[in-house]
Amino acid sequence: MKNYFILFFMIIGVSVLSQENRPNILFIMSDDHAYQAISAYSDKLIQTPNIDKIAEEGILFSNACVTNSICAPSRATILTGKFSHLNGKVDNIFPFDTTQMTFPQLFQKAGYQTAMFGKLHFGNNPKGFDDFLILPGQGHYINPKFIGKEKDTIISGYVTDIITDLTLNWFKKKRNKDKPFLMMYLHKAPHRAWWPSPEKFAEFYEKEFPLPETLFDDYSNRSSASSSAEMNIFKHMQLMQDNKVYPQTIQEMGEMVKDITYTGENREIRKAGAWEFNYPFKRANKDQEEKYRKTLDKISFDFKSKWPHMSDQEKTIWKYQRYMQDYLATISSVDDNVGRVLDYLKDNGLENNTIVIYTSDQGFYLGEHGWFDKRFIYNESFKIPLLIRWPNKIVPGITNDEMVQNLDFAQTFLEAAKIKSPKDMQGKSLIPLLLGENRKWKRDAVYYHYYEFPSVHMVKRHYGIVSKEYKLVHYYYDINEWEFFDRKTDPNELVNVYNEPKYQIALSKMKKKLVKLRKIYKDSDELSQKYIY
Ligand code: CA
Repeated sequence: MKNYFILFFMIIGVSVLSQENRPNILFIMSDDHAYQAISAYSDKLIQTPNIDKIAEEGILFSNACVTNSICAPSRATILTGKFSHLNGKVDNIFPFDTTQMTFPQLFQKAGYQTAMFGKLHFGNNPKGFDDFLILPGQGHYINPKFIGKEKDTIISGYVTDIITDLTLNWFKKKRNKDKPFLMMYLHKAPHRAWWPSPEKFAEFYEKEFPLPETLFDDYSNRSSASSSAEMNIFKHMQLMQDNKVYPQTIQEMGEMVKDITYTGENREIRKAGAWEFNYPFKRANKDQEEKYRKTLDKISFDFKSKWPHMSDQEKTIWKYQRYMQDYLATISSVDDNVGRVLDYLKDNGLENNTIVIYTSDQGFYLGEHGWFDKRFIYNESFKIPLLIRWPNKIVPGITNDEMVQNLDFAQTFLEAAKIKSPKDMQGKSLIPLLLGENRKWKRDAVYYHYYEFPSVHMVKRHYGIVSKEYKLVHYYYDINEWEFFDRKTDPNELVNVYNEPKYQIALSKMKKKLVKLRKIYKDSDELSQKYIY
């Protein structure tokens, strides 16, 4: 009898131990959050003390990047652990095949409690979640609608605060304390059109930001893809929709649009005109509208008094400042709200056994190369912020410069949770890097492939390979041009050295590696044809 008792307690003990060994996962992702707008990476633009804390108490990756710099494809890669050409979600247009295995489904099967709140932007409801409330498509910043498992709902307030309220509410009321959790807490901010809360809108309107070195890039020394892209702050950013200049009359609106060169996407927006501008007010109540109008009136007054007398260069700077004021104001709300969730973990004894990840679905141009938006393999949209905290596992405050990708997330989380990864996932678990076992990490370059062309912003189709030293890019479809950058001597990627004699040996090596990587990852010209429309 005594032996049975011992056996019984041993089994209980083992099961308690294995529960303890399975960490909770809190995955925080924002939409279009550039690493340049996180003070752990650079404090030139904004202070983000709460997000920074994750790196201060964990690890910061300085060479983390995406496989395809656009929203839905990045999310598909994160969920499936596969490149776009295999998971099929190559751009925001092609549908996602929901019969595919995604890592949250594996977590749910393995006994994790799973929940998702915020922006999925996928065209489908998420699979593998016990609870979710997600924004339909891009969603709204003000008084947003949410799609739920059982019913849809409209919640009053500002989207970043609401997504956090939903997340905290789930922790307080729905979390099953006998199970580990996987929480995906996904912000809509700072996605275009960068609408801050009324309070942050007023606060950030008073600020002025330093100009990026390449704001007036003339796109010389590079492929034609740079100069033909339609995401230039001066030429393509909308005074009304983006810069929030509020015309009092139709006549004023006509005056306002005269100065801007409209091309591609913007012709369509111009047609939509006032509707696009009035977008948040379609949803605002009187009180919210009143608060916004105070700042909008100041913007309008400033615009009217200065714009007619400005040079093109001054106009670019004016629009850049307006852009940064709003973009960074939305980030400030994200940071405040991340702080609320981190505080909850701490106050409820969840800090030690929870892995916290902060990232974005891609990077973003904050005036570098004169641009806003993303899509290109150039640093600012190719790289992502990646900060991970895992107490007692990750040495606090370390930085890692290995080439890691969003492709690696699924296998990392699965390994941390002791769940077997499907064989067809294409990434690598980052666990060795988190534990400081860098010698076990063998990858010297990553692969990238962007598809969405012709489409908004007109960034041409391209694929490429990136190591710590070099970046090799091939633009195809309607052009056939190559670029080669020396990342060490030319961090701003201004000079294409593809034809320079002294780079021919390095170039030839990178070309061979590119062929090899395409083969390993099962990408090919034939497969690219499948995704042409
Ligand atoms: Ca995005």
